[in-house]
Amino acid sequence: MRRQQDKGKATDCPYCQGKGYFQLLLGGSETCDSCSGSGAKA
Ligand SMILES: [Zn+2]
Repeated sequence: MRRQQDKGKATDCPYCQGKGYFQLLLGGSETCDSCSGSGAKA
């Protein structure tokens, strides 16, 4: 966890909840394809 963000913001990417990446179960993270890591809704 890097930072907490409020969920449900209209400008947040719905796939990664505005984080810009997905947390992987095995560790590390993967950049969100939908927002290209920006965390913003397209
Ligand atoms: Zn995203």
